[in-house]
Amino acid sequence: MDLKARVSYLQGLAAGLELPRESKESRLLNGIIEVLHDFASEWEAANRAREELEDYLENLDEDLGRLEEVVYDGEGPEDDRYIEVRCPNCGEMVCFESDLLADGEPLEVTCPECEAVVYSTGAPERGDGDALRAGDEDL
Ligand SMILES: [Zn+2]
Repeated sequence: MDLKARVSYLQGLAAGLELPRESKESRLLNGIIEVLHDFASEWEAANRAREELEDYLENLDEDLGRLEEVVYDGEGPEDDRYIEVRCPNCGEMVCFESDLLADGEPLEVTCPECEAVVYSTGAPERGDGDALRAGDEDL
């Protein structure tokens, strides 16, 4: 039984006593029951507010979970998978997979626009000028 129903039950019992309406006992009893009734109302309202807050937090948590999936499982690793370099010759942005670096093989990435070498792992000491010349030799 909820609080309001229990208070109503007490109210019925008090009425059953048939105390004189203006007696001290009646005023005390009705006063107590009135306070209990107010408490029950406040309690129910607080419970409803808490339930709404819990629902809201649950939704917020789900939204945050979805957001985390997008940020960490989606775009995050994708940023790691691709390396972007600007072609020193024509300024074109060139993307290639970082997996290509992981196998340890010498790697030379050429620009799709002008075919200049934009990335090379073969000889890291080479400067941009040498890399460009090496790219030209490959042509
Ligand atoms: Zn280029």
